Amino acid sequence: MNSAQNAVTVIGLGPMGRAMAAALLDRGYAVTVWNRTASRADDLVARGATLAQSPADAVATNEAVIISLTDYAAVNAVLEPATQALNGRVLLNLTSATPEEARAGADWAAGHGAVQLTGGLNASPTGIGQPESYAFYSGPREAFDRHRPVLEALTGRVDHKGEDPGLAALHYQIGMAVFWTSLLSFWQAIALARANGLTAADILPSTAETANSLSETFAFYAERVDAGVHLGDVDRLAMGLASAEHVLHTNADAGVDTVLPAAVVDLFRRGVAAGYGADSCSALVELMAKPGK
Ligand code: NDP
Repeated sequence: MNSAQNAVTVIGLGPMGRAMAAALLDRGYAVTVWNRTASRADDLVARGATLAQSPADAVATNEAVIISLTDYAAVNAVLEPATQALNGRVLLNLTSATPEEARAGADWAAGHGAVQLTGGLNASPTGIGQPESYAFYSGPREAFDRHRPVLEALTGRVDHKGEDPGLAALHYQIGMAVFWTSLLSFWQAIALARANGLTAADILPSTAETANSLSETFAFYAERVDAGVHLGDVDRLAMGLASAEHVLHTNADAGVDTVLPAAVVDLFRRGVAAGYGADSCSALVELMAKPGK
């Protein structure tokens, strides 16, 4: 096993794994790669990466093993036949997972003598290797500190969220809850625009302005929600319901898919029915949260 700090294995060469392997090569790391579809390694091998013949060979080569697969079912499929090579390895697992899956994965790795550091990448493939990009990790602090240079080669900014291997997965899924619904709202907006003869480029300035204003809006509500305050002084849920219905009906009139705006209206209606109509729209948190939390 190569425990040198300048040698890394990357398992999984989707867009993310390929970007990570390329960023490591850019910084002079000796990179060993493995991927189910071997041809995805061609460009990396041309740039100096070594293609391992099996996951066990890839794991056996280096102490630091980056894993970037679609999900933990894929991680299990790839690593199960490689268990004899896991002893002493640090698995930098950047595969999306639920917190429970990440904890089970870390337990499984520990059972084979390996340490798992769970990661969450707040970056797209084009952001990998960029100084402003950001990722967070959880699991043993010692492993994070030891492999920090590798992690900082992937994203310029890194954070350790705690010892619990599920924490990074939790923070990642919280981010993705915002990301996917935000992106879906943009796809909805484009569909509605297109039905009215407009292009994505036509609506980009106004939709980007709305998106850019959201961080300030989040900060405003975060403080109030944590204080248990849902004052209807700025916005009222009853107003929100009327507005959400306008969005739904505009989409329905245009003949585009209404699943997303209908789900929004449903939540607002349930909020009003629960007696929050005169409160802020943030009262929906009380409707959505686990009772008593
Ligand atoms: P992809 O799903 O495109 O590819 C990941 C890899 O998983 C591929 O190399 C694929 O192999 C492999 N794979 C899938 N199933 C199996 C299996 N059963 N056995 C063996 N190999 C398998 O993912 P990305 O590269 O886009 O992302 C990797 C991880 O990073 C994901 O968990 C994703 O959620 C996360 N992520 C992705 C971002 C993005 O913008 N793409 C951003 C942030 C995080 P093969 O090539 O043979 O199909």
